[in-house]
Amino acid sequence: MTLWRIRPDGGRVRDSAVDDRRPGTPYRAVTSNNGGPPGVDERNPARSREEAGVSEPYDGGPVAALRRIAFLLERGREDTFKVKAFRKAAAAILPLPPEQVAAAVADGTLTDIPGVGASTAKVISAAARGELPDRLAELEREHGGPLTGAGADLRAALRGDLHSHSDWSDGGSPIEEMAFTAIELGHDYLVLTDHSPRLTVARGLSPERLARQLDVVEAVNAHLGGEFTLLKGIEVDILDDGALDQEDALLARLDLRVASVHSKLKMDAADMTTRMVAAVRNPFTNVLGHCTGRMVTGNRGTRPESRFDARAVFEACVESNTAVEINSRPERRDPPTRLLELARDIGCLFSIDSDAHAPGQLDFQVYGCERAEEAGIDAERIVNTWPQERLLAWANG
Ligand SMILES: [Zn+2]
Ligand SMILES: [Zn+2]
Repeated sequence: MTLWRIRPDGGRVRDSAVDDRRPGTPYRAVTSNNGGPPGVDERNPARSREEAGVSEPYDGGPVAALRRIAFLLERGREDTFKVKAFRKAAAAILPLPPEQVAAAVADGTLTDIPGVGASTAKVISAAARGELPDRLAELEREHGGPLTGAGADLRAALRGDLHSHSDWSDGGSPIEEMAFTAIELGHDYLVLTDHSPRLTVARGLSPERLARQLDVVEAVNAHLGGEFTLLKGIEVDILDDGALDQEDALLARLDLRVASVHSKLKMDAADMTTRMVAAVRNPFTNVLGHCTGRMVTGNRGTRPESRFDARAVFEACVESNTAVEINSRPERRDPPTRLLELARDIGCLFSIDSDAHAPGQLDFQVYGCERAEEAGIDAERIVNTWPQERLLAWANG
């Protein structure tokens, strides 16, 4: 199930959306100042490199080019509607033999393939000819560089991600695409944590759908062959009284459970404290997700922190061995720094999670790493630096 591609010389290469070349300079721009005469674009900026007959070589192939474009758009926090066309086109041509794609390029009939439109056909044509597609070159310049100035060392120490969503709830991509991208980002494991029943706006999974998803996760793992594991999880709603929004029998079948508050965020502080303490003390809860619920930026607007006795909640986390999530989403930055430092001083465990709703957002983890580094949190206290066996023993101990 890995995306292998046959090279013209017969060798096999992995069709990766994640660039393993030096970050920040994935491709040398044609017009970069190399001390020589001006490049083609500078002499005649109205003409594209393609029209001018100048193109950079690209050996990734059409599927990798489309997936890389989608990855960069998601990582750059572009609207998902912009991304959909590229993911759809990649899925459309993935099963086709390369000769068939090459023939469609030669005949100019790519757009006859369902799922391929005018702009994605341009990308496919260039990549199939072994040329860097213009759109990809543009996005590498715009979104290909490092996301943060710090956090890289801690990010390198992370072995997995404990919070991610697929299109089974409110994510934008299928389960297997999330898994592929996690592999490409170097993870050993990814916990799939789609929403629970009561979060109907996010298509929360009923007990029946969750049970079916667990079979799909097993099927994906069977194809992946063992070096990487997609772990079974949930982001379970914390109900008003602190109970968890899923059947115990199903929670027991999961590898790991993130519990989060998504409703009545403005609840009175004393009641919210009781609610959260009950949830983190629930034996099934492993991670307290985005504890304050705040939104600091982004197109969903801003939202203030929920009010609760953070000391009481974090002390309950320590007592019950529940990790406090450092949610890496730029619009959340949750917990806020003063609470992150309080949890650090109280002795909490942490998990640094992407809360990705699209494959490219799995790369957000470095934002959380930067914050954890700034707060001086030891890597040993971050549960997703642990090997899988240790993580699972902790989560199910
Ligand atoms: Zn959430
Ligand atoms: Zn989430």
